Amino acid sequence: MTAASPILSLQAVQKMFGPHAAVDSIDLDIAEGEFFTIVGPSGSGKTTLLRMLAGMDQPTSGNILLRGQYINNLPANKRPTCMVFQSLALFPHRTVGQNIEFPLKIRGEDPAKRKARALQLMDLLRLPQNYYSKNVMKCSGGERQRVALARALAYDPQILFFDEPLSAIDYKLRKTLEKELKDIHRETKKTFVYITHSLEEAMVMSDRIGVMRAGKLVQVGTPHEIYSSPNTRFVSEFVGDVNVIPVSLGSKNLLKSGLAPKGLKPPRVPEGFENGHLVIRPEYLRFLAKAGDADNALTGRLYNEYALGSRIQYQVRVGDTVFVVEKLRQQPFTGKLDDDVIIGWDAKDAILVTD
Ligand code: ATP
Repeated sequence: MTAASPILSLQAVQKMFGPHAAVDSIDLDIAEGEFFTIVGPSGSGKTTLLRMLAGMDQPTSGNILLRGQYINNLPANKRPTCMVFQSLALFPHRTVGQNIEFPLKIRGEDPAKRKARALQLMDLLRLPQNYYSKNVMKCSGGERQRVALARALAYDPQILFFDEPLSAIDYKLRKTLEKELKDIHRETKKTFVYITHSLEEAMVMSDRIGVMRAGKLVQVGTPHEIYSSPNTRFVSEFVGDVNVIPVSLGSKNLLKSGLAPKGLKPPRVPEGFENGHLVIRPEYLRFLAKAGDADNALTGRLYNEYALGSRIQYQVRVGDTVFVVEKLRQQPFTGKLDDDVIIGWDAKDAILVTD
């Protein structure tokens, strides 16, 4: 988190639809210049929250403050903010230049200044200058996305809201645009508030991420914190493949599980912990030559392998439980499918969560 003061503050913000709380008592500060992403599964309340922040909807209760000023009832067009949608809402029969200049035109800027600013924004968004006169419908999906962002920046808003702007774009281009968006954030130094259901996307771009579940913000942290210290099983499973073992605290501070009769050596045990789950990410599991080579070891059968480019992922079956093990391609391993294998991990590399 940056040291900057909050540009947006949410205090116990709630939105009811009949008896259902779509957004349930959210407290949050978003810092000036921050790239903050709200992530969560479908129906968790992301759009409802963003609509309230952008002034398209009002909270049922709670306060929204912009630099300390109460703005609950301030309509969208009176706020120094701008929304970039998945459906781009560009003017189809106009040129790239006319689309980008639209906000400057309604503000009454003279044509020469408008054009200069449009060309400057096109440069920032890596759109060729000769696209200025190109019909926007003759641009590719990715180029149109850049035109929409250039137009949003032409409003010169203090905060840009993004509602899943990349979800309709194919994988490769999306990966490029994610990085470009992060670069643009750096260059413009504006506050970006972004929603997506893809935590992978959130990880690439954000300074901080807020994870939503059933209307509540269940964890807020840097991408590193969310990945390496998830506070619940829900958050841990939201960040890609993960191994989860139900455990309870047994005698001698060992964890009891159905998988290891002698018990498992735990990571740091949260105070008051009795029952919960041990979470181990696939890259922390490794194949062992013998059981003593890691704090914890399990014997299983190598069931399948998947090439993931620079990494290889393996499925190992321990009884009825399937474990996912991942290693870098260049790390040596000679195991073959159906071999008996020993997998293991060091206690410090796992996480204990209570639910
Ligand atoms: P998605 O990723 O699918 O867009 P979301 O996280 O953005 O989902 P919301 O659209 O904010 O979720 O919806 C949160 C909950 O509020 C859902 O249960 C939804 O059905 C409900 N909801 C949203 N808008 C309304 C509305 N206008 N009237 C009634 N219920 C609504």
